[in-house]
Amino acid sequence: MKDSARLALLKRLVRWLVLSELAVRRALGRIRERSHWARLGACRGCGRCCERPSIRVGAFLWLLPRSRRLFVWWQRRINGFELVSADAKTRTLEFRCTHFDSERRVCDSYATRPAMCRDYPRLLFDQAWPELFAECGFRARPRNAEALEAGIEATGLSDEQKAELKRKLRLE
Ligand code: SF4
Ligand code: SF4
Repeated sequence: MKDSARLALLKRLVRWLVLSELAVRRALGRIRERSHWARLGACRGCGRCCERPSIRVGAFLWLLPRSRRLFVWWQRRINGFELVSADAKTRTLEFRCTHFDSERRVCDSYATRPAMCRDYPRLLFDQAWPELFAECGFRARPRNAEALEAGIEATGLSDEQKAELKRKLRLE
């Protein structure tokens, strides 16, 4: 169901706050050289990331039932995300998005989609080993890829072994 004008305005405000916080955090991360991955490629619009949007929440939110309920309510009421499952091991909440048209594979409120949708898959690149969907047009490449490649070339491995190592290290 499409967002109303009032909901769209609220979502814009929240999105601005979330994206500003992310931009500051990333700028600090760059200063500290924390991200080891470069993001290559572009979105192909396959819609795979809209099938089951998931959010990893902090321990505070996870452990307090009231705050968790409020968070889930917010996702339902504001973002149109309906809770499907919760994984205690990773503190991840999985949703079904009511804005996703699974047949046409498009978002019915693309202009007002939440910050996490606009940002996807950048957050994954802050992880030690980003796992992207096979269909995704983005891919992760180590920032020190050239040094790794030179190191592999200097080994006495066979061409097949070098190619396999490069594939495993995402140097292709
Ligand atoms: S709000 Fe739109 S972009 Fe975000 S998950 Fe739903 S369908 Fe995808
Ligand atoms: S999975 Fe990747 S390519 Fe597909 S819609 Fe999402 S960001 Fe775009």
